This record gives sequence, structure tokens and C-alpha cells, in this order.
Amino acid sequence: MTADVLSFWPPKPDVSRAVAPGIRHLLAPNASSWTYEGTNSYVIASGDSAVLIDPGCEVPSHHEALRRAGREGRRTVTAVLLTHDHPDHSDGARTLAASLDVPIIGMSPRFADEFLSDGQVLRIGELDVHVVHTPGHSDDSICLWMPQQGTLLTGDTLLGARSSGVMGTLSELLGSLEWLRKLVGDREVLALPGHGPAFTDVVESATRVIDVRMKRIDEVRGHIADGVTTLEGLTRLLYPNHSGSKVVFAVSTVVSTVTYLLEQQGVRGIPDPVQRAAVAADVDRYEQQLAERMRAHKKEVDAEVDREENRV
Ligand SMILES: [Zn+2]
Repeated sequence: MTADVLSFWPPKPDVSRAVAPGIRHLLAPNASSWTYEGTNSYVIASGDSAVLIDPGCEVPSHHEALRRAGREGRRTVTAVLLTHDHPDHSDGARTLAASLDVPIIGMSPRFADEFLSDGQVLRIGELDVHVVHTPGHSDDSICLWMPQQGTLLTGDTLLGARSSGVMGTLSELLGSLEWLRKLVGDREVLALPGHGPAFTDVVESATRVIDVRMKRIDEVRGHIADGVTTLEGLTRLLYPNHSGSKVVFAVSTVVSTVTYLLEQQGVRGIPDPVQRAAVAADVDRYEQQLAERMRAHKKEVDAEVDREENRV
């Protein structure tokens, strides 16, 4: 099973295939520069119940394929679960859950009808699925750990050989990756990520991400010590070849790294008080601008909803 899962990539969107005992995979048809080949949707099914994970899009054919995979063997779908609420995972969740009359479960304050908690064990048929809160990629990120069969759904917290962004905090991401390393230890584990193919080198992958991030932290600390105290200047030095929408991603990585340094004391952070204050002020400015943009965006969305409601 494992060799097949690893070699067969990418599959066609919407085609359901077994990837582990009780788990089926379906690739969402939402490929983009942010989602790689698309988002991985999963179905965990056992006994007479099933849970659908991360629909990732509003495409009806994908929802139909998910429902069919969940209901196979006359099972009842009991919930739509989100590993986190980024649009490439949560899009379509409300429509799909409503079509089945089931709740959305997860840790997202925006989406979850039923909140999951760290350490909670979901019983799906004969399967025990342990909820592991792994903030960092986002505040609400969770992994699903099935110890009996050594399967770990990693969401976007860990993508094997690929990288994922930090939209939560870097210190939390580093903590979550450390925790995953401990959880897996020297067990043989099949990891099923939110994007890209399955992988088995969980500890090595987590270590690689931690090492890359630590190197970046050292680089940023070095540039700040050299007098570069603006996010713009740091982004240009670290990502000289990024343009267009990739700059947004680059800046958010720099912000997460700088925020990490501001949390540290003494030489592990930014020891020079003047440089520290300058960097902190620039992060504040950035966060205010971001909050303003979010508010403006929310107004646009609200206006759109109003227009829709008036039409009805
Ligand atoms: Zn994603």
C-alpha cells in the first residue's frame, strides 16, 4: 500500500483511492501556485460512519465524489472536518456540510460548528483518531494521529519535501514540529499531507523545516545587526527574485521571522535597543496596514452579502 501511495502522484482530481486502512484520498480540482497540484481531501471511514476532510473548493463534482466515497458501504457521513480554515481547505465546507446536514468540526472559530480540542479522540467506526493541535501554519491547524495504524494526517503543518507558509507564529510552528517529531519518534509512519504526495520520513522532514527556519532566523538577525531594520529592506535581501503575489508571501515569512526575534531576549533576539525598536515599529505599521486591508475586505464582503440578500 505504502509504495503505491508514494509512487502514484499526482492522481486525477475527484478520483477516490484507498491510501491507508479506512482512509481514501481525493485530489481537489483547485491547482494553483499556492496549492501545488491541488488540495488533498480525505475520507476517514469505518464501521457505519465516515468523516470528510478539507473539501477545498466549491466544485460540485468534487463534493459529489467526496459524498460518494463517504457513503460507500451504506455508511453515514457524520461531519466535515477542517485541518485549518485557509480558503484552499475550507472553501466548499459549508455547502458540503449543509448538503449532508452535518456539522463542520475543527478548531477554526470562523467555521467550526463543533470545536475540537487538543488530545480529543474521535471515534470513527473502529478507528481512533487523535486530534493534535499544531499551531504555526495557522492558529487553528490540527494534525490527525491514528496510532494503531501509524497514520498521521498533517494538514499544512508539514508537507514532506515541500514548504508551507507561517500565517500563525514561527515560535508556535517550531514547537509544533518538535512535538510531531516526539509523537512519531522511531515509529514507521505514513504521513498524509494537505498538499503533495504522502511521505514516510516525518522526523527528517520536520527536522529539515526546523533547520531551514533556524538558518533564516540567523540570516535575518545578521541583516538587522548590519543596520537593515525595515521589512522591505529585509525582504529584498532575503528574496531578491520574488515579484508579484510571491512578494506578499515573502513579506509574511520575514514578518514571522522578525516577530520570532522580537520575542527572544538578549543575543538570541535583537540585542541593540535602537534596532529592536525600529524593527518593532515597522512590524506594527505592517500589522496595522494588514488589519485595515482586512477591514476593507470585510466591508466589501458584507456589501456583497447585502446586495445578494436584497436581491432575494
Ligand atoms: Zn493548504
